Formats: sequence, C-alpha cells, structure tokens
Amino acid sequence: MLSVDELKARIRIVPDWPKPGISFKDITTLLRDGAAWRSAIDQMAALCRPLRPDVIVAPEARGFIVGSALAYALGAGCVPVRKRGKLPAETLRGEYLLEYGADVLEIHRDAFKPGSRVLVVDDVLATGGTVTATIDLVSQLGGNVVGVGLLIELTYIPGRESLKGYEVVSLIKY
Ligand code: AMP
Repeated sequence: MLSVDELKARIRIVPDWPKPGISFKDITTLLRDGAAWRSAIDQMAALCRPLRPDVIVAPEARGFIVGSALAYALGAGCVPVRKRGKLPAETLRGEYLLEYGADVLEIHRDAFKPGSRVLVVDDVLATGGTVTATIDLVSQLGGNVVGVGLLIELTYIPGRESLKGYEVVSLIKY
C-alpha cells in the first residue's frame, strides 16, 4: 500500500495548462503505475465503503476511470453522466455554468431506481460545478446522494462550499 504522499508524487503537475494560471493535475502518470493505481482505488474504497452506495454516478471523462474502478472495488453499479448527445436512450439533461459559457450533462432516465444510494465520483474537485450539476441530475431522478468521492481535491478553490450538506471524501489534497 502506497502512502498518500507516494501517490501524490506520481501525479504530474502541468503549469499553465490548458490555459495560463491553471495548475493541471495530470493523473495519467498515476494510472500507468499498476501498484499505485490499485493502492489509490483501494484507499478510496476504504473511505467510501461506509457510505454503502448502490451505484456510483460519474461524469465523463476522467470520472469514468475513477468511478468504474471504485464501483468494482465496492461491488456497486456504475452510471455514466455524459456530454450532450452521447447517451442512446431517453435522457435527463442539465445545464451548468463554466467559467465562460455553459455546458450540458445528460444521464439516462432509468439509470438507477428512485431511492438508490448514490455516490457521485470524479477525479478532481475544482470549483465544484461538475459535481453540483451531477448531484442535481441524480436528485431529479430521485436518487439519495450519500456522498461525493474524489481522487483529488483542490482545497485552494472553494469547491467544497458548493457541496454543503453532502459528505465529501477526498484522498489527495492540494
Ligand atoms: P469543476 O467543475 O470546476 O469542479 O472542475 C472539475 C472538472 O474539471 C473535473 O472533472 C476535472 O477533471 C477538471 N479539472 C478542473 N481543474 C483541474 C485541474 N487543476 N487539474 C486537473 N483537472 C481539473
């Protein structure tokens, strides 16, 4: 089992990407290391297991990577939240604001049974916009959001403040 600091050492920081001022946390350098990746998911699973989720709901694209591995580890189902026009069956659509403009996320209307215990999972929590929009979709479908699980939390951005009232669990903090 690798320590959180050892996991952190495997995340590549790319300054000024995708634009000036952003310190991008590149997880590909963690993912390519089998022992480190397994260790990260095992530790996230230990943190999230007490929340007893029935399903994990994860936004594209890096949310899928973390969410599906975590769902497997917890024996939970896995539900993708996708950008506009990607899901084939009937969807519920939500708009959310980006720094410039807006974007759309969609979820299948029959993604989980109403009342299901849902854990929302993403790779990085920054402003919280993506997670908040995902929670909104889950709530509209009658899901019981039991928590939010993040591989990485950027504590220098007040993303957690937009998630007041929710159990927020993160493994690696900057
Ligand atoms: P936000 O909606 O602002 O919380 O942004 C979260 C989404 O943007 C996540 O899905 C991340 O993949 C990505 N993201 C935002 N900021 C960063 C960053 N500094 N490094 C890596 N990914 C980021």
